[in-house]
Amino acid sequence: MNATNNAPLPVTLIPGDGIGPEVVDAARRLIDATGVRIAWEEAHAGASVFRKGIASGVPQETLDSISRTRLVLKGPLETPVGFGEKSANVTLRKLFETYGNLRPVRELPGVPTPYAGRGIDLVVVRENVEDLYAGIEHLQTPGVAQCLKLISRKGCEKIVRLAFEVARAEGRKTVHCATKANIMKMTEGLLKRTFEEIAPEYPDITAQHIIVDNCAHQLVRRPEQFSVIVTTNMNGDILSDLTSALVGGLGFAPSANIGSEVAIFEAVHGSAPKYAGKDVINPTAMILSGVLMLRHIGAHAEADRLENAVLFTFEEGRHRTRDFAGDAGSCGTRAFTDAILANLGKTPRRTPARTRSKLVLPVTSTAVDLVRPAKREVVGLDVFVESPLQPEVLGPKVQAAAEGTAFRLKMISNRGTVVFPLTGAKTDVVDQHRCRFVFQNPALDVGNGEVGALLSGLERQGLRWMHLEKLQAFDDRPGFTKAQGED
Ligand code: NAP
Repeated sequence: MNATNNAPLPVTLIPGDGIGPEVVDAARRLIDATGVRIAWEEAHAGASVFRKGIASGVPQETLDSISRTRLVLKGPLETPVGFGEKSANVTLRKLFETYGNLRPVRELPGVPTPYAGRGIDLVVVRENVEDLYAGIEHLQTPGVAQCLKLISRKGCEKIVRLAFEVARAEGRKTVHCATKANIMKMTEGLLKRTFEEIAPEYPDITAQHIIVDNCAHQLVRRPEQFSVIVTTNMNGDILSDLTSALVGGLGFAPSANIGSEVAIFEAVHGSAPKYAGKDVINPTAMILSGVLMLRHIGAHAEADRLENAVLFTFEEGRHRTRDFAGDAGSCGTRAFTDAILANLGKTPRRTPARTRSKLVLPVTSTAVDLVRPAKREVVGLDVFVESPLQPEVLGPKVQAAAEGTAFRLKMISNRGTVVFPLTGAKTDVVDQHRCRFVFQNPALDVGNGEVGALLSGLERQGLRWMHLEKLQAFDDRPGFTKAQGED
């Protein structure tokens, strides 16, 4: 992709909601002023689309435009209360498989923060389509909700490779992988294991795992120790808001949603509706998202020109929006943008430029079944049962349900803790119980007839089931975790 020599490059432009149109307009004016030739295709998504009754918040024309251009500059989108249940942002990220969300932050001259002078300059590389944000939720009982945390080896591989490639392209020497693998060994652990397997392919970069809660703590104590942090979707969402605060707030935090086919550039912040149309908000995050877009399309000189103009304006300190100047001495969004425009072509004096090479997007396998074990067996079945009974009453009924079937009850857990056989502990229980049955003879698979017999047994005991999960072992390693207190 190159927008400098050939015909104008088509880019889908989504103004978005709230303060979106103001910040997007600022970024667009400045991008155009760099001399890059872009044919903007304006398209819509978010609140206005939900209000028209389109439940996804993203109309077909917008999807068609993105499929054509494969590049998007977008403002924040709102899901108005009472319309749609899925965020239009997440829909866009997921539909176009933008699996990596790059969220760089760096100290900006003249922006007062407790960290001024410490040279914060880091990128959070957030996995963008999996994890709890896969959005697979169920009410398992009227009072117990579940959200599936889905993490795939393929997703981990893509995001880990992207993080190392970002480090290489930006001359960064360290990549931290932040996970909660100590608690969630299968899901968060998969990212940690994948990171540790892939890291040796990048011997020029130091790879370090860090537990995510400590990462948050270290980010507040000594943020300058980090350069690239790769992490799962929800961890990344939270950590990147934290890192934006380190450099002055959401008004300064750009982002790029990167996929193999499509890339979407947007500020980290939302639509801040209370400021909409008031010409008071800071457009820097969106403008810097434009810089990320210019680099992505290979317009490096134009990207540097725009970034330098932004940095020069901060160094000058004559124009500052309300979020970092306070009410006294602040200027409006448009005047701030005009000041940057006037500074195009100027070079910042105090802020060092980073030498960059082109980001090489990782090429990973497209196989659907990336992991193929040599051996697999089914060793049991977890049956989730709704019941108001206490464990001492429920347990014998569940044991009786399994009599005469291929299974025996191993234990019952409630919210992950063993409650039957009785432990003597004082565990509070809710009406969702996980009944773990083990198969008498491990088999290649568990037949419908055997499962049916067990479910009929539960029914005979007056018990309602709502969810089944096979207990599998792959290459002799269990593919499930134990309950707290399970032997
Ligand atoms: P928000 O819109 O990011 O605003 C939170 C606060 O951050 C604002 O009240 C303001 O702080 C500050 N802020 C945000 N952007 C700023 C800017 N450009 N300049 C100066 N200050 C800025 O978060 P929210 O209130 O949680 O979300 C509002 C809506 O946006 C929701 O509907 C949410 O779903 C949506 N959202 C969309 C996206 C997206 O499209 N990518 C992302 C996040 C949220 P002060 O009040 O301290 O001035």
